Amino acid sequence: MNNEYQFTGDQQYSRDVQDVMALFMVGPATETGRIGRFSVTVECSAYQVVTQIEFQNEYGKTLTKTEHSNIQAAGNGTQPTVKQSIRLSLLKIMKEFTSYDPGPWGILRGVRPTKLAHRMLDQEQPVERIIHTFGHHYGVRADKAQLVTNIAVRQRPLLAQLAGTGRNIGVYIGIPFCPTRCLYCSFPGFTLPAKQSQVDAFLQALDTDMTNAAASIQKHGLTVMSVYVGGGTPTSFSEADFAQLLTSIKQTFINEHTKEFTVEAGRPDSISAGKIAAMRSAGVNRVSVNPQTMQQKTLDRIGRNHTVDDIVTVFHQFRQANIGIINMDVIAGLPGETEQDMIDTMEKIASLEPDNLTIHTLALKKGSRLKTSLSEHSLPNETVTGRMVEIAAAYARQLGMQPYYLYRQKYMTGNLENVGYSFPGKECLYNMQIMEERQTVIGVGPAAGTKAVNCRTFDLRKCYNAKDVTAYMNNLPIYLGDRQLLLDNLFAAGKEEISTC
Ligand code: SF4
Repeated sequence: MNNEYQFTGDQQYSRDVQDVMALFMVGPATETGRIGRFSVTVECSAYQVVTQIEFQNEYGKTLTKTEHSNIQAAGNGTQPTVKQSIRLSLLKIMKEFTSYDPGPWGILRGVRPTKLAHRMLDQEQPVERIIHTFGHHYGVRADKAQLVTNIAVRQRPLLAQLAGTGRNIGVYIGIPFCPTRCLYCSFPGFTLPAKQSQVDAFLQALDTDMTNAAASIQKHGLTVMSVYVGGGTPTSFSEADFAQLLTSIKQTFINEHTKEFTVEAGRPDSISAGKIAAMRSAGVNRVSVNPQTMQQKTLDRIGRNHTVDDIVTVFHQFRQANIGIINMDVIAGLPGETEQDMIDTMEKIASLEPDNLTIHTLALKKGSRLKTSLSEHSLPNETVTGRMVEIAAAYARQLGMQPYYLYRQKYMTGNLENVGYSFPGKECLYNMQIMEERQTVIGVGPAAGTKAVNCRTFDLRKCYNAKDVTAYMNNLPIYLGDRQLLLDNLFAAGKEEISTC
């Protein structure tokens, strides 16, 4: 008997069944006629949804559980919809059958639960009702329902201020290079090519991309509010190339209205005094120094080619250069780590007094070295990882920070989340823009996406550049054409204009 299910019922609900069963690592039967351990039946009448699962346990005994959901008021916002009822019933039954808790986010599968909170706030629903809806319609745990709602409420004035009249935008520039590849990373990046001619060719393509983006910005009268240079590790370039890149970005995108110019400086092994000086003179006002952990044994294990002392040194160099706001990232659930390690990491980070903290949960990404060599690593379990997240969050709050953006990823340990914390007034606007998708972001560089957002309806259209650097460079005219068309369709037609925001 294999760990699969058969589904009987209206096929329009097959996706709902599949999504919930996937939380328990149970997939649909892959061969016709094959019998799985689970048999799911859904019957809907005008008044009721009946969800039933038959389950064969390890002794060959068949167990049956049934859930009845009243749907008289379904769809009016006070009761879960039919699809939500099916998902909630399946979740409940599967938890009982398997004794497995797939995490605090209930039936929510999306990357951005805050978007759901914003939609309810758009409808002027009271905060208490939104929290209730997260709990009762989506099965979200009470603390997470509170967290996601509070974050959305906190974001509202900042997002409104950012949107302006609908022609304020963000720009993302993706640099696909890193000094080495981290164990858990699936990012389609590369260590820097050995040949300078290859670097030059890439920078030339990026320059063409930036020039083209600037032409669209000028054509449509757009105002760049934030520029985020990420990747990858943009600071991987040589001092000369990095300084030249920042100068080009400044000349191309930065204006008197630009509030943020952020550079990911995540790897201390890629930072030098010359690069910090280049950031300073280009007007960079935010950096992200990402230790992920302050445990040397873990840094070694995950392939970060630097020491804990390097992190501290670089942090102080940025402070001395008065670069502005410094974010630090940590990851809960790294191989071999314990709760005590997280406490020690947070003690060390707290003593540095960063302005922002981003607390990630380890994601076992497809394509990462960690995923392919999992048996060689001892990962903290979901419960321990959850406690690590709580420890880090408690430190952030003790420092006086508040959570201000949240997103989830596939394959996260314990189906948890990533949360950004900030002192009030020091939030990264770009992070909110890219997550909440309420403002257009133009993407430049490999793997970068352009999101064209109609500010009245929040209707979203996207296009992406190739992830592969060679494909990006070879096909650049095609990507530039797609982006131009996307922006022309939104802005030339005036669809984005809003009277107030
Ligand atoms: S620094 Fe970031 S992008 Fe680069 S290899 Fe490590 S995790 Fe991946």
